[in-house]
Order: sequence, then C-alpha cells, then structure tokens
Amino acid sequence: MPTTILSRCEAKGLRLTDQRRVIASVLDEARDHPDVEELYARASAKDAGISLATVYRTVRLFEERGILEKLDFGDGRARYEAADRAHHDHLIDMETGQVIEFFDPEIEALQERIAERLGYELTGHRFELYGTRKKP
Ligand SMILES: [Zn+2]
Repeated sequence: MPTTILSRCEAKGLRLTDQRRVIASVLDEARDHPDVEELYARASAKDAGISLATVYRTVRLFEERGILEKLDFGDGRARYEAADRAHHDHLIDMETGQVIEFFDPEIEALQERIAERLGYELTGHRFELYGTRKKP
C-alpha cells in the first residue's frame, strides 16, 4: 500500500507535472491541516513559479481522486490531509486555530451503537470538538 501522496498519484496513473510534484511533496511533509493559502505559501517557497490557481486546481484534483480529504472546521477555510491516514477525530482550539488529533475507542463504539439503535450501518463519521484551553 503506497503511503505518500506522490506514490498514490503514481498508483492511480495521475500524470504529475513538476509543479504538481512540488505540491504533492508539500502535502507529504505537512504534519498539520493546511488550507490552500498555506499550501501555496509552502509550495511557492520551493518553486516561485507556482500560482495560487495551480494549488487550487491540484488540491481539487487530488481530492476528486480520493488522495486528499477535505476538512471543514466551520471557519470557511477548507483544510486538507492525506485521505489514507488512520482514522482520527479533531479538536480545534478556537483561540489559536491549532488542530489537535485524537482517537477514542469509546467514542467510536458509541457512534456505532447510536447508528445501530437508529437502524443504520455506519459507513463513516465526522466528529469535531471546538474549545478554548482551560486557564490555570
Ligand atoms: Zn487530522
């Protein structure tokens, strides 16, 4: 199972231009959940010829091919992470915008039970927490 964006593109037969390769490598290096503006800043630092429009188009292409997952944390800025990451949920710090990843087996099981009770088989879920850090 290929694990980088670059190798997943190749596995799906996507033709990668040099600029798309740069954007793919920026996505592979990202340990956060960057939006398009942030991806553009990182990509244009590596290749000054890359335009914001190219980043938009490439990200949309990767999303359509199931390589990237689009996240919406309610602030009107779409963010992205690799679609083949192990399942996790997000907590968003409303003061700093920091996104904290977590996984909780109790929440996973609870969601399954709720779906079951409502007569559904769960095929996926989005679970986001919003908060501010407790002051000591
Ligand atoms: Zn995440």
